[in-house]
Amino acid sequence: MKKLTRHQFLKTSGAGLATGALLATGCAPDRNDQAKTPEFDPNRTYKWNMVTTWPPNFPIIGEGCELFAEWVDQMSGGRLKIRVYGGGELIPPLETFDAVSSGTAQLGHGAAYYWAGKIPAAQFFAAVPFGMNAHQVTSWICSGGGIELWREMYEPFDMVPFLAGNSNAQMGGWFNREINSIDDLKGLKMRIPGLGGRVFERSGGSAILSAGSEIYTNLERGIIDATEWLGPFHDYKMGFHKIAKYYYSPGWHEAGTALELVVNKTNYDSLPRDLQVILETACARLNQYMITESEVKNAEYLQIMKDEGVDIRQFPSEVLSFLKDKTDEVISELVAEDPKSAKVYSSFKSFKELDKPWSDLTEKVFYNEIS
Ligand code: CA
Repeated sequence: MKKLTRHQFLKTSGAGLATGALLATGCAPDRNDQAKTPEFDPNRTYKWNMVTTWPPNFPIIGEGCELFAEWVDQMSGGRLKIRVYGGGELIPPLETFDAVSSGTAQLGHGAAYYWAGKIPAAQFFAAVPFGMNAHQVTSWICSGGGIELWREMYEPFDMVPFLAGNSNAQMGGWFNREINSIDDLKGLKMRIPGLGGRVFERSGGSAILSAGSEIYTNLERGIIDATEWLGPFHDYKMGFHKIAKYYYSPGWHEAGTALELVVNKTNYDSLPRDLQVILETACARLNQYMITESEVKNAEYLQIMKDEGVDIRQFPSEVLSFLKDKTDEVISELVAEDPKSAKVYSSFKSFKELDKPWSDLTEKVFYNEIS
């Protein structure tokens, strides 16, 4: 097989680097933009609002947004002040995209798959069933050409996206029925968002969309039979273990969901260069914070759940293999009907294929041998 250098891979993966543009390092923006930034002015301060898709005081993710504002304040010597709003405090959570696009708010934090109705290709920048883990998706976005495509997709909406968080590995969800075969998925009503929901529907179930605040009541009343949420830490806080019998692994639909910070482009371009770099740097720190906090808290709360006798299961291989086949069907249809999705998925898939022999040789062996 022909080996590609990193530059050749980026060219063939659809990253579409502009001629003469420097290769973006990490998640830095196109350096051509630097010319437009205003002069450094120590006396000029900016007061910005950040709207989010997260419930107020949402552990790790919402708290991380508050920390982000503190870091930016500290790094900028108080020149960029950010006020963070939970979903519903300033605008409804799922209006975050429109609020930042229109300039109603300068900043937003959420997950790109919420905007699938506006930009189907955005889903690849959040979660793809049987896609990549947090480490791999971070690598694709920051160093494998993903960020350039992400910026291209959001440019018509006057927004600049940054990678700014990750849920880390998620669980498959809570069920009141054992899942022993493909037939057990039939007729199951499950709260499951995004492409995973489409795959679940294709597999014989019904995907129900509901806001986080409604899930517990819906499951308790039998309006839904099953739900996914995040991992042991957040799921325990939601109390799902009190009303569902089985907790299934793995989160085949969300192996490492990337989260985004979006900045209104007109506002972003109005910042002096040092404040732009401070925003980028704080995004990178936020990404790391969410990954490491989730890893530690999920490990702790998995043990708590085990101590409390939660029945933790694993989906049978037959079921996972079936869901994977359905995923391939759903993605094939999406890329056939939407050229932008085709372009982004081409890059995503190329990176995954490039990385597979390496991760198979190292991490896969490591995990298999130590378990
Ligand atoms: Ca989830």
